[in-house]
Amino acid sequence: MIKESTLRPEDAIFRQTVDAGDYFLHRIEAGQTFRILDLEGNQAADTLFYNADDVTERYSAMDTIREQGNVYLTAGSVLRTNENNPLLEIVADTCGRHDTLGGACATESNTVRYSLEKKCMHACRDSWMLAINENEQYGLEKADITHNINFFMNVPITKEGGLTFEDGISGAGKYVEMKAKMNTLVLISNCPQLNNPCNGYNPTPIEVLVWE
Ligand SMILES: [Zn+2]
Repeated sequence: MIKESTLRPEDAIFRQTVDAGDYFLHRIEAGQTFRILDLEGNQAADTLFYNADDVTERYSAMDTIREQGNVYLTAGSVLRTNENNPLLEIVADTCGRHDTLGGACATESNTVRYSLEKKCMHACRDSWMLAINENEQYGLEKADITHNINFFMNVPITKEGGLTFEDGISGAGKYVEMKAKMNTLVLISNCPQLNNPCNGYNPTPIEVLVWE
């Protein structure tokens, strides 16, 4: 569902551009709103969320999908934790659909899906691992890397019940905006994938904005 925001970028209290292949790790306070902006279009932002006060509570794709009765995420979706608590609500969305089934790219999946020589290509899981190692203060460990959301990524379900990675439906300037229902850690890998059309074979930067 397309829903535009009323928030103005010039009123944001925080803005950061995240290059393709980089990670973003930031604490959002309950009540704050944050936006992921697809600056050049057709980018995928692979994102994990945690309760910032207890990282054993984190985003759960199963609880979110079950409670909303829909596998796609868009405006109105309440993102739930593994304890079935509301973590964030998508309050604006100009892209219209986001994936939470496809998972994130890893060197292992690149090898299986594409070819053995892809093993050394940078992948989302590497970015997340780097983020938790460079930011020990958050208490995150390897085992905490679980379900993610692929913002802006187009992973339609086929008639046979399978998944396909399709060319993106996002465009330059499209965004998704969420309001935090609890203190939330946001961990984004701005996907470096070059082997499937999720980034249009051209990974590009995103911007993150936060409002009080
Ligand atoms: Zn990726």
